[in-house]
Amino acid sequence: MPNLKSAKPAVFLDRDGVLNIEAGYIHNVEDLHLIPGVAEAVRRLNDRQIFCCLVSNQSGPARGYYPIDHVEALHRRLCQLLATEAGAKLDALYYCPYLSPPEGGTNREFTRWSSWRKPNTGMLVAAAWEHDLDLSQSFVVGDKATDVDMAHNAGCCGILVQTGFGESVLGGKYQHHTKPDYVATDLARAVDWILQQMGKLEVERSSKLEDEHHAKQPQSQNRASRYLDYYSG
Ligand SMILES: [Mg+2]
Repeated sequence: MPNLKSAKPAVFLDRDGVLNIEAGYIHNVEDLHLIPGVAEAVRRLNDRQIFCCLVSNQSGPARGYYPIDHVEALHRRLCQLLATEAGAKLDALYYCPYLSPPEGGTNREFTRWSSWRKPNTGMLVAAAWEHDLDLSQSFVVGDKATDVDMAHNAGCCGILVQTGFGESVLGGKYQHHTKPDYVATDLARAVDWILQQMGKLEVERSSKLEDEHHAKQPQSQNRASRYLDYYSG
């Protein structure tokens, strides 16, 4: 269970349309390509020891398009590209291979309603428990309305990028209307904003600590001066 004192903020990243170029169901591993600038953006989070976590709906196995091993192979390539391009890494990867029958699930092994499927919060909650994360201080970056909805369902800040389906979501042509906390042209700009927000939080936290320190100060000074009065009187 996340420890209230030590739990840390995280940045949750959707996969298709955020990290790699949106290309529908990727049947050949070699067809997974990074969006320019994302490796460097993830590296900037790594450099600040900010927990980076993939959260992705991957319904290919449930639709019978490919086995689950193929999803794992795509993730190995993703991690390899991030490392090669900028020495960047994901601290954890979560994905939901399940799909309900009305949504198109056909492979019995993966066909079910799942609390892990976005916009449900299962992946975020699992990550928070396993890695001691504070969801209320965390960010989700996605290109779909369901990414933003998941963020809000879990009490995270939801950022919509304009890569992938992002632009279509904003134009009302894909999924449904959603209210992201911030709209970024791409992951690099999203990371700029996240670091800015985290910096603001840090300033607020340290000025609060300073205020608390000052609030205590007069009391102890008063006490000290009372003693001085006593001894000098
Ligand atoms: Mg996506």
